Amino acid sequence: MITKHRKHIFMLLAGFIIAAGWLMVNGGCQSPAASAPEPDTAPAEDAALEVIPLEGPIVVALQPGHWKIDELPPEARRRSRSTGAVHGNVRELDINLAVVDALVPLLKAEHWSVILVPATVPPGLRADVFLSIHADWGADPARRGWKLAPPWRPSIASSEIAEALMESFRAEESLTEDADGVTVGMRGYFGFSSHRYRHASSPYTPAVLVELGFVTNTIDRELMVTQPEFYAGIIHRGLEKHFYTRGRSNVAFPAPP
Ligand SMILES: [Zn+2]
Repeated sequence: MITKHRKHIFMLLAGFIIAAGWLMVNGGCQSPAASAPEPDTAPAEDAALEVIPLEGPIVVALQPGHWKIDELPPEARRRSRSTGAVHGNVRELDINLAVVDALVPLLKAEHWSVILVPATVPPGLRADVFLSIHADWGADPARRGWKLAPPWRPSIASSEIAEALMESFRAEESLTEDADGVTVGMRGYFGFSSHRYRHASSPYTPAVLVELGFVTNTIDRELMVTQPEFYAGIIHRGLEKHFYTRGRSNVAFPAPP
């Protein structure tokens, strides 16, 4: 509870600082006539007003991390085309695909609808949740554990889904949490960053990036390679708990712009 309150206070503070910064940069006291027209901002606001709530079954968008990375659009060319972690003959991509493969039937059994998302995210992707599934690489072979994170300045739904998934992972005693391992790259993941990239999910889509474990750690690697359905089960139970208790999130509360 305390951490939740802190989070809310932090989000309020962050919002205030951003607003103050915007005023400073844009000159809050400037007369409207003095500022140049900003044709790019109006359509974005209109789009936000027109957002249509999802209907029908819960929609889960699943991205096996690095899948079809070679099809990334030009806007992503400045970034290195990350093909994912590799250790010996074990590829992160294969782990991600196997876990998603095992997860799809579990979600379909809930009568939810599943969208498989390649590295090139369809612009403005809408879903009740968008999960990007990954496995990590570490220079230290002793480093192990899962971690997950919503994007920066997450929507309430993103935070709640991340919490539900964390609870589900924490219930597994055979797993370890790489608690301090969440990186800036995870939270600023390009597939969630609609303010920077066209090929990113809608800010109305709650999103979480999941790192299952380290391909460079013997215990994690063995588990991930031989038991993808174990990880699929954990993710399934987290989503199940969230959607059965919270239901579909209100699109009136997207991630702050
Ligand atoms: Zn990855």
